[in-house]
Amino acid sequence: MWDNLSLKEVVEYTKDPFPSIRKWAKEKGKKVVGSTIADVPEEVIYAFGFLPVTLVGTDKPLKKAPSRLPDNACSLARSNLELVLSYEGDLFDGFVLPQVCDTTQHLSDIWRISFPDKYVECFLAPRQVDRPSARYWVKEEIERLIESMGKWTGIGITDNDLKNAISLYNENKRLLKEIYDIKKKNPETITNREFFSLVKLSMQVDKEEFNKSLKKIKDSLAPKKGDGYLDIVLAGITCDPPEVYGLFDEIKLNIVADTLVTGSRYLDGIVPDNGNPIDALADRHMNRNFFSPIHDNVYRNFEEIKALYKENNAKAVIYIHIEFCESQEYDLPDLKKMIRKEGIPMHVLDTEYQTLSLSHLRTRLQAFFESLKGGSL
Ligand code: SF4
Repeated sequence: MWDNLSLKEVVEYTKDPFPSIRKWAKEKGKKVVGSTIADVPEEVIYAFGFLPVTLVGTDKPLKKAPSRLPDNACSLARSNLELVLSYEGDLFDGFVLPQVCDTTQHLSDIWRISFPDKYVECFLAPRQVDRPSARYWVKEEIERLIESMGKWTGIGITDNDLKNAISLYNENKRLLKEIYDIKKKNPETITNREFFSLVKLSMQVDKEEFNKSLKKIKDSLAPKKGDGYLDIVLAGITCDPPEVYGLFDEIKLNIVADTLVTGSRYLDGIVPDNGNPIDALADRHMNRNFFSPIHDNVYRNFEEIKALYKENNAKAVIYIHIEFCESQEYDLPDLKKMIRKEGIPMHVLDTEYQTLSLSHLRTRLQAFFESLKGGSL
């Protein structure tokens, strides 16, 4: 189903992947396990024979979530809850929910109460990864998840099952990185929207199939530089709705680096496939790039963005702020100050999962880049 997709089809599937996942799961007789972002070791879920699906909200209207989450809960948490309560809940046999911020800590109980007949497990990622106890904690969490899934399914997994899953997932990330490298230098070859759709769909469909599409797409790309592109760094957690990428394409912004959980932070999660696979997964967690609620150093966000801006000779930073994301709201004031002090042009785009009209974002983006070109920033 996902093994021979064109770029155009990938963009279509990314808009609403659930009908295809439903059909695939039925045909293959597979169970589906959903996770919210970020850092659930999908390889463990895959090793048990399930399809891991990362949930990244919906643009469909909120109906039930507002009665269970306050209005000032982040847009992504509300949107994901709505996705499963009103639209796609029946597709999932279970959920593994990471607790990465205060919102997600409270959320897992709401999911558990909402789905008493499904498997619901938490994955408690430590927020401060510089403590010596953090790695021990992550490893214990991975082992706890394996034990919990084993109890649920009545089966166990071997190191080899996990290594095979790691190797398949690594291949996916390597292919995406190769395509990203082509895109960065040749923006006319593949649009921002197409590339980030490849990443998002990778997080939601069967990798064994989708890697075949990625290989074909990569081999079919004829690099074209094009004219008039401005290279930018995209910072944040997620970038939705996907039409926001369309806006960047419209005004010829070329994303040459990013810090997104649905972007480079995912791609950089390649795991060594020799040695003990649980140790390798724990090491990945400890070595991953900055993610707003998980940090070891308050300057790290700034340092990473500054390095990406300089290394890639970018012209500006666009920061995607998710409405009511408490972690981002905590980081942003200092980040803005540090970035501006460094003389880096930065623009913050406020996004909301249920937003369908992007005209206000378009106007603000256009104004920012007009000023940048005119040298007034
Ligand atoms: S990190 Fe931000 S966007 Fe993610 S769940 Fe927490 S509050 Fe929401």
